Amino acid sequence: MSSSIDVAVIPGDGIGPEVVAEAVKVLQKVADDAGLGVSLTEYTLGAEHWLTTGETLPDETLAALRQHDAILFGAVGAAPGDTRIPSGLIERELLLKLRFSLDHYVNLRPSKLYPGVPSPLAAPGVVDFVVVREGTEGPYVGNGGALRTGTDQEIATEVSVNTAFGVQRVVKDAFRRAAQTERKKLSYVHKHNVLVHAGHLWKRTVEAVAADFPEVTVDYLHVDAATIFLVTDPARFDIIVTDNLFGDILTDLAAAITGGIGLAASGNINMDRSAPSMFEPVHGSAPDIAGQQKADPTAAVLSAALLLDHLGHPELAARIGRAVEQDIAGRSELGPRTTSQIGEAIIAA
Ligand code: ATP
Ligand code: MG
Repeated sequence: MSSSIDVAVIPGDGIGPEVVAEAVKVLQKVADDAGLGVSLTEYTLGAEHWLTTGETLPDETLAALRQHDAILFGAVGAAPGDTRIPSGLIERELLLKLRFSLDHYVNLRPSKLYPGVPSPLAAPGVVDFVVVREGTEGPYVGNGGALRTGTDQEIATEVSVNTAFGVQRVVKDAFRRAAQTERKKLSYVHKHNVLVHAGHLWKRTVEAVAADFPEVTVDYLHVDAATIFLVTDPARFDIIVTDNLFGDILTDLAAAITGGIGLAASGNINMDRSAPSMFEPVHGSAPDIAGQQKADPTAAVLSAALLLDHLGHPELAARIGRAVEQDIAGRSELGPRTTSQIGEAIIAA
């Protein structure tokens, strides 16, 4: 455990800068109280930056980012109707480039239904689980192409790449996490009845790794069944491990049942620590509410807590978690608050 941490901050587009500003204040507060030094370096990247400079993620910027202990990220991306920016450019050449270059193979997405948060579910029970989503493979690798584009005979492919190395390291990480929870339960989610090649690699890998973790109970769910149980019985989940695409979809659903996208935090983690990990809210840049102080910064604040936990300061992360819990518990009595009012309330708590 070090007495100072060096964090790169990428506020990004839309509500990114608004929510990150609050997360930074909360991070600074718990660090100051604990005598932990925090060095912050801001990087301007995103859709707006591309519009003014034509840069997505230059190699020098990537090299500079590598020097930090961790990255705190807001959100990037233009409004859906903005035709000035080629579709997918920022996602591929900035977001995915960061994840792939820094080898963020564990995408960690905790879901917890805090007391006092209204859930759309009739009987949610105790909802507190973590999705471990594979972050560097699957259909997100850009392996594919299109023939006869724009014609009635067009054929488009998007190949899902799954390697023994990639599946093994994320499955092992999920088992390690499951072994540390109270319930010690791992659900792995795929669709191996139809996606047989990738599915069976996942299945065999889970079975092999399970032998090293006899204390962990394992169950398997097809991804379609998993969406049903996330709504009808989310309390059954503890740790969920799944591939890149399924994980993306399941975690938006998970955010919806636990009070919404304004609360969902995530980490893009390189467990080997060969490059800095990156922590960001699950939500995007929300252009519809940007610049209006309407965004809930809680997801960004909880992402800063995940960052502290990853850098060896679990007690500071827990302090943030408790402050958020306290703030959320009192929300029903309050009217609408601005982004910075919520940040200030968390700091006060
Ligand atoms: P991306 O592709 O970047 O994930 P998205 O299309 O999923 O983006 P978001 O930017 O996450 O979209 O926004 C989805 C909806 O959720 C929008 O209506 C937005 O206003 C709302 N939203 C997102 N983040 C927040 C937040 N922190 N607080 C309140 N509302 C939010
Ligand atoms: Mg989204």
